[in-house]
Amino acid sequence: MTSISEYPSRTDELRDRLQRVRNRIQAAGRPAGADEPHLIVVTKYFPASDVDILAGLGVRDVGENKDQEAAAKAADLAHLDLDWHFIGQLQSNKAKSVVRYAASVHSVDRRSLVTALGKAMAAEQRRRESEGLAARGDLSCFLQVDLRGDAARAADPGRGGAQPEDLPLLAEAVAGTPGLLLSGVMAVAPLGADAGDAFARLRELSAQLQAQHPGALSISAGMSSDLEAAVAHGATHLRIGSDVLGPRPPVR
Ligand SMILES: *Cc1c(COP(=O)(O)O)cnc(C)c1O
Repeated sequence: MTSISEYPSRTDELRDRLQRVRNRIQAAGRPAGADEPHLIVVTKYFPASDVDILAGLGVRDVGENKDQEAAAKAADLAHLDLDWHFIGQLQSNKAKSVVRYAASVHSVDRRSLVTALGKAMAAEQRRRESEGLAARGDLSCFLQVDLRGDAARAADPGRGGAQPEDLPLLAEAVAGTPGLLLSGVMAVAPLGADAGDAFARLRELSAQLQAQHPGALSISAGMSSDLEAAVAHGATHLRIGSDVLGPRPPVR
């Protein structure tokens, strides 16, 4: 990072930024009876040394969106008690790698990926057994929903997320796959849309999912710019990057 910092050290900076985000989460109005959401700190593009500092500041949940980067950091920091959350678009051929370190995948958006994750989990448990390692826990799966309208989708069909009408079958697929645990839903508020409207819709979809799958209680929603709206609409998991770590370095 070449930006000039007003902080004496990176640890001071991360402590201060993290505290501000925690204060915002506490100050945001929650629905009646809702617990405080889990904070996942999104560390993509930032070095493992920052994750190490964050762990020292009490962070237990970190989010990454690229397998190669995440796998390297998780290996570097294997001595720390961290849960790694995979939040980016995931190619099926990366499933095998992701299940070696990830506690959850927030971007489950198609049947073929569910199949790949199920196979990868089975292979991973066999690997652990053959190497005398303890079995890992089930992989928590969040169904990522595309909340954009038809027009935006037609203009840019390549983006991640299942269509809302495809959620029931996708949920059945996850629930019926050994090694996978259906946690709930995930979404990113569409660009230019009102985040509150988007997260209200996500909460409705979560309620529909829970009617069929009572254990699928989780709602992963909310980034740096819209965490208050997410908390107000019942988010259980927030994915916060830049407000904790600072502006991301330009993509190389
Ligand atoms: C990068 C990213 C985030 C964090 O975004 P910030 O605006 O930096 O807080 C959250 N969710 C997803 C899916 C991301 O890719």
